[in-house]
Amino acid sequence: MNTIPFWQTTKLTEMTSQQWESLCDGCGRCCLIKLQDEDTEDICTTNVVCRYLDLNNCHCIEYKERTVLVPECVRLTPDNLQEQFHYMPQSCSYRVLYESGDLPEWHPLLTGSHEAMEEAGISIKMMAVSENEIEDEEQLFSHIIDCDEEEL
Ligand code: SF4
Ligand code: SF4
Repeated sequence: MNTIPFWQTTKLTEMTSQQWESLCDGCGRCCLIKLQDEDTEDICTTNVVCRYLDLNNCHCIEYKERTVLVPECVRLTPDNLQEQFHYMPQSCSYRVLYESGDLPEWHPLLTGSHEAMEEAGISIKMMAVSENEIEDEEQLFSHIIDCDEEEL
């Protein structure tokens, strides 16, 4: 007998923390460094990733301390989802679920691994460089890969 997955039956605001955490596809896109135009507030995304992301597996090595170590690190919660959308990539599974009511077909909860997500080009593993390799802020401009609502 097929069972209906929890993300189709449970509101985001009513999920357990374990369910909520499991929705993260581990793509690492939210950890890419963004630049914001002071006048227009437009946001451009670079392929430079936060120094605390392990690019071998896209895991944050300072997950518990992340918002202390990186003040601009977004801690997504059911309550701030809407206000943080602007800063999240369009492929972010939380965003996709909120907007469409379902998870993308490559999601690890559906496929059982990260393989399909990587094949779909969602993971940043192969395209990102660590902030540790950047010498100064000016260099970030040459790493811009998209601006505002355009898809990566
Ligand atoms: S973009 Fe969304 S799904 Fe991807 S790692 Fe960040 S929070 Fe998780
Ligand atoms: S502190 Fe961790 S979760 Fe936050 S942006 Fe850096 S790598 Fe990502």
